[in-house]
Amino acid sequence: MKILKFGGTSVGNPERMRALIPLIVNGEQKIVVLSAMSGTTNSLIEISGLFYTGDTTAALEKVETLRSKYHSHVGELYAYEGTCQIGLDIVNSHFDFIAGYANKPFSKIQEKAILAQGELMVHLLLQENDINSLLLPALAFMRIDKYGEPDLLYIEESLKRELSNHKDSEIIITQGFICRNAYGEIDNLKRGGSDYTASLIGAALHTEEIQIWTDINGFHNNDPRYVKKTRVIRELSFDEAAELAYFGAKILHPSTITPAREKNIPVRLKNTMDPEDPGTLITGKCVFEDYKAVAAKDGISVIRIRSDRMLMAFGFLRKVFEIFEAYRTPIDMITTSEVSVSLTIDNPDNLEHIIKALKELGTVDVESNQSIICIVGDFRTERTGSAPEIFEALNTIPLKMISYGGSPYSLSLLIDSSDKVNALRYLSKHLFNQKK
Ligand code: ADP
Ligand code: ASP
Ligand code: MG
Repeated sequence: MKILKFGGTSVGNPERMRALIPLIVNGEQKIVVLSAMSGTTNSLIEISGLFYTGDTTAALEKVETLRSKYHSHVGELYAYEGTCQIGLDIVNSHFDFIAGYANKPFSKIQEKAILAQGELMVHLLLQENDINSLLLPALAFMRIDKYGEPDLLYIEESLKRELSNHKDSEIIITQGFICRNAYGEIDNLKRGGSDYTASLIGAALHTEEIQIWTDINGFHNNDPRYVKKTRVIRELSFDEAAELAYFGAKILHPSTITPAREKNIPVRLKNTMDPEDPGTLITGKCVFEDYKAVAAKDGISVIRIRSDRMLMAFGFLRKVFEIFEAYRTPIDMITTSEVSVSLTIDNPDNLEHIIKALKELGTVDVESNQSIICIVGDFRTERTGSAPEIFEALNTIPLKMISYGGSPYSLSLLIDSSDKVNALRYLSKHLFNQKK
């Protein structure tokens, strides 16, 4: 069995939806994970934001704009009036549900229920369109625990139970991104989470492959949104792909690789607009190259702690780490000197509490609006010469932190976010284009 996940642009309009049919109908049993149509989740976030601030009129205007977009897609997609009417009724029921939040108390719980509507709508547009498929609602098997982590045992058991009733269905369609949480409420796997849904299902069922279908021919060696002349990488290892996804390569949700790596299931990235292209294959095999790819992650804060108590001390770093652990805040990068330590985090939710606690240990300063640049390549300890090439490429950009030696696959740097685009371009120019 294979898992095929189609992202927002792959279901972005009726023409694209019709183009999926030959990709998923081939006589083999498969699970198809669908995202919301592109732009839908962003619109739902805006609508929720307006409900929060009490701007009901603006929220309802946006609801109606999105509703009419779906109406016109339904009209285009279905040839028969009967099916068209069913499609419109279903779409309307979702938009009426969203509009129903006007003037009601609004919190995170309602916001998540609204965000889930995007993923709930798309399969309906496909289902009536010549595809003999079964809908397996994601909310029946996808669950996160009280820490927001996937509840793997529950997912596996529920999926297997659901599927055992549908052994003969060729195409099983489900929604990406959405799930239930430990309290039974509707929740989600964070932005871009449909990729993660696909790999969690793949791992739970131990499938032969997890395919992520998107709007580009696989993993590129730099971010094509900022850099021209990027090129596709045909093979990546789980570790390399995980570093790149975690450090900002938007093509994959940061956690996608983890379940696949655990079960050693290949992940293939494919382009729905160019299905013949082999795309990128991600497996356990690593073939080192000097430089493979660069990615950047925004929204980073750096925290610097300085304390004379650190001099010749032991146990100091433990005290620092315990504070981050208490506030369940992961640390991305870390560098130390004899009397100071700098750390980066990407989740500032508990920053104030963390700073207050750290001040008990020494002086603390914080800088936000930082970006981590991650360079993936051959950084094994015996290799020489990579650091000068990277520093030469970035010699006009202030480097705030450098993390080298932590991984044989990557080197990470911290810079001001305002320098990010230039840094990505300079690295492409020096590490990829000019050398070839
Ligand atoms: P989907 O809606 O299919 O999930 P996404 O927009 O989430 O698609 O991811 C695909 C996009 O990721 C590409 O169109 C591209 O702009 C962006 N992207 C960023 N970094 C990379 C990279 N290194 N390789 C390929 N695409 C990338
Ligand atoms: N629709 C969700 C989002 O935009 C999930 C996804 O597309 O992967 O984040
Ligand atoms: Mg995505």
